[in-house]
Amino acid sequence: MCSSDLLLITVLLLPLVGFFIFATILQPKFFIFLGMGLLVCIFYLIALRNRLAKKQSEIQLWIQNYGEQMNLAEAGIKQEKIAIESFREKIVNYSQLKGLTEKLSMCLTLEDTSKTFSAEVNRLFGDKDTTIILYLFHSKTGTLGISSSQKGQMRINIKSKKGDAFDQWIIKTMQPLLIEDAKSDYRFDMDRIIPQDAREIGSLISIPLMVGNKALGILRIDNPHENHFTTEDLRFLTTIGDLGAVAIENAQLYERVEQLAIKDGLTGLYLRRHLLDRMPEEISRQLRQKTQLAFLMLDLDKFKQYNDKFGHIAGDIVLRTVGMILSEIFKEPGMLVCRYGGEEFSVLLPDCTQQKALELAEEVRKRIAAQTIILRREKTHITVSIGAAIFPKDAQNAKELIHKADLALYRAKNEGRNKVCKV
Ligand code: GH3
Ligand code: MG
Ligand code: MG
Repeated sequence: MCSSDLLLITVLLLPLVGFFIFATILQPKFFIFLGMGLLVCIFYLIALRNRLAKKQSEIQLWIQNYGEQMNLAEAGIKQEKIAIESFREKIVNYSQLKGLTEKLSMCLTLEDTSKTFSAEVNRLFGDKDTTIILYLFHSKTGTLGISSSQKGQMRINIKSKKGDAFDQWIIKTMQPLLIEDAKSDYRFDMDRIIPQDAREIGSLISIPLMVGNKALGILRIDNPHENHFTTEDLRFLTTIGDLGAVAIENAQLYERVEQLAIKDGLTGLYLRRHLLDRMPEEISRQLRQKTQLAFLMLDLDKFKQYNDKFGHIAGDIVLRTVGMILSEIFKEPGMLVCRYGGEEFSVLLPDCTQQKALELAEEVRKRIAAQTIILRREKTHITVSIGAAIFPKDAQNAKELIHKADLALYRAKNEGRNKVCKV
């Protein structure tokens, strides 16, 4: 019982006691009953008050419980909201990935694939300050080279063509890289990195493009501001990178198959089919530009004898050597060297005069005649006869041009071989 209760009892009891003494003297019987009744009332009121206080503390407890439950419910709702938000983000991401996959699946060549891939990455991550670089390993040399680089909607020139320290880190570790603040990242010395390229690098995400264990290149995104990228960005980029890497590998395989279909396996030169496809295009281009087109037909001299003497494998070595010499001499863009068939070769020379064609043919003849091919410790030599024809001077179409060069070749054979003849 608390002090307020004692006070209440005292305040109520004092007049009662006074009244009781007074009533006992004047009306003893009636006032004794009244006093008793009052006493009962007082005790009932105290009991009622106690029950009320108990009820109040119970209500207080309920309020507290409800408060806790509300807090829990609020936290639950918050989590649900976050989950819904991340679910919504996932739906957006999946639809973006779907779009990327659809676009990549429409690309056949490596050039198309890398262009589409970079454009899509730029759409998803790019802004006016963000630089996106796609590096690919060269399929033959294995060296890293830039396939595309852009900042916003602009193509930009990157000075460090083979990648900087960040890219070297990716090559070394083959792990995704997130740099939130380049200046405070202990792994890289920014004083040595920044001078290579003028642009600032505050933060960066970069991933290796891998298919299985095979590395195809690097996809790297950097921004001048710190904390521009999050782990979530790196995770999304990794998923995009996986899709891109598969598409790039497919494009490389497609190009390799295409090359196999148009290139000769022994010499690496184009096949006759490719020449016949290209010739009409070249002829109409020469007609439009009103320039000349030269065509050379080459045939190795007495090659059957060579084969008979040294064997077929030795003959193959000769064919490969001749192929190399031709590729070295006719290396300018547009020049087309073919293995026409067997031991016959042909060369298509756009924008070439007769004089220039004959000079080049003579250079080929001399180089082949001077070439020593060592077989079973024996020095061997081979010669070639060459016929040259010029469009439009000697022929009006591709078929006629080949025929005329063939006639000139037979003249060279008839005149004693190891010779260049024009029509
Ligand atoms: P000519 O000077 O008149 O041209 O004499 P030739 O012996 O070269 O005559 P021909 O053109 O009839 O002979 C071509 C020979 O080339 C026949 C074949 O044994 C050889 N040959 C064709 N293709 C290949 C090849 O892929 N590898 C090898 N080793 N020999 C080939
Ligand atoms: Mg022949
Ligand atoms: Mg021959």
